Amino acid sequence: MSACDVAIIGAGPYGLSAAAHLKAADGLDVRVFGEPMSFWERHMPKGMLLRSPLEGSHLSDPAGALSLQAYAAAKGNPLTAPLPLPRFTDYGHWFQNQAVPDLDSRKVEGVEKNGSGFHLTLENGEHLKARRVIVAAGIMPFAWRPQEFRSLPYSLASHASAHSDLSRFSGKQVAVIGGGQSALESAALLHEVGAEVEVLVRTPIVRWLWRRPWVHTCRPIARMLYAPPDVGQAGISHLVARPNLFRRLPRLMQNRLAVRAIRPAGAAWLKPRCQHVPISTGRAVISAATFGDRVILKLADGSERRVDHVLLATGYRVDISRYPFLAARLLSSIRQIGGYPQLEVGFESSVPGLHFLGAPAAWSFGPLLRFVAGAEFAARELTSKILRKVPNHGDS
Ligand SMILES: Cc1cc2nc3c(=O)[nH]c(=O)nc-3n(C[C@H](O)[C@H](O)[C@H](O)COP(=O)(O)OP(=O)(O)OC[C@H]3O[C@@H](n4cnc5c(N)ncnc54)[C@H](O)[C@@H]3O)c2cc1C
Repeated sequence: MSACDVAIIGAGPYGLSAAAHLKAADGLDVRVFGEPMSFWERHMPKGMLLRSPLEGSHLSDPAGALSLQAYAAAKGNPLTAPLPLPRFTDYGHWFQNQAVPDLDSRKVEGVEKNGSGFHLTLENGEHLKARRVIVAAGIMPFAWRPQEFRSLPYSLASHASAHSDLSRFSGKQVAVIGGGQSALESAALLHEVGAEVEVLVRTPIVRWLWRRPWVHTCRPIARMLYAPPDVGQAGISHLVARPNLFRRLPRLMQNRLAVRAIRPAGAAWLKPRCQHVPISTGRAVISAATFGDRVILKLADGSERRVDHVLLATGYRVDISRYPFLAARLLSSIRQIGGYPQLEVGFESSVPGLHFLGAPAAWSFGPLLRFVAGAEFAARELTSKILRKVPNHGDS
């Protein structure tokens, strides 16, 4: 059985950034598994634009040599904002080719504890021993399907993450459930491909992220109010951008700020594209049933809708028990809060040597970890912890 110091599960922004930092450290044998940028390529819609600003959309390498700007210069093709999805995925592949050329695209199917390290099973049945495991496997297993829709077949009610191309809904009547960026952008894209679409939003209003010209164009004022990743409102954004400070706040305050920083909202640039899309606010769906090959939705206000398809843009709820590769015994020894692992310095869980990056780290390090912008912090903290701890080759 082969062995390595560190096995990274996942090759999205977090896995690739962690790999770039760890591989730059002399003497560490690091293996990275997963298809690079696959969540972005297969589970986000064609035509999507990134909501995060360019400054908050870099993957991270220790020298800062593989930024979006470096990618654009290397390709001779300047960046545009908001960044189109294919440019971001192309950037991810470019980054991977430079920083992690020996990536192994196989899936990890099992992880269990093995003495002081871990035993991994790969998709072809091969086994590997690793002293440490970094779980950077993203949010796909956490796609949230609310109770009201669970009795409907997937052919009639699908989660937004099930589609990379919405053109199959051309000419169909589609109800989009949700009021955040994914719901509003899916609705705009559906309208643009010729679907008849209505957005049903539970809350009384839809929030749009207005960029007030005097705030965002006057650089000193913008810098004072918003940290570059631009996660969270004015002022709060600076706390969110400093996860080590954020995690020292009283728990109640962290929870409140986290909710405010990620509440559903649409980017300002999306609003004109939604002007011909009916958006019905204050409309909670109380039941959903099939009606031939269509769906009837009953709403809390007594009205109903008959549609060809329901698109659930209802977000993701972190629950690490949904990672299919974590063995039950290992899972039960990870200290958790509401599905999130409780992490310490270096993103290490209560199982020594097992780390979690990305959205599962948000309970411990705040909302920045839900975004690409958190990859820099995560990769640096993880690396400095591992370099202090991992024994040299040959040590047992
Ligand atoms: C519609 C939508 C739009 C978004 N837009 C933005 C945005 O504009 N800006 C932003 O910052 N964030 C955005 N996000 C959030 C975004 O998902 C995260 O910022 C980002 O993907 C986090 O990176 P990650 O590496 O944690 O996860 P992912 O990008 O999901 O990568 C996880 C990787 O793990 C691999 N993997 C999973 N399981 C295994 C396994 N068993 N073995 C091997 N590999 C495995 C997958 O193949 C995948 O490549 C958006 C999310 C959604 C749903």
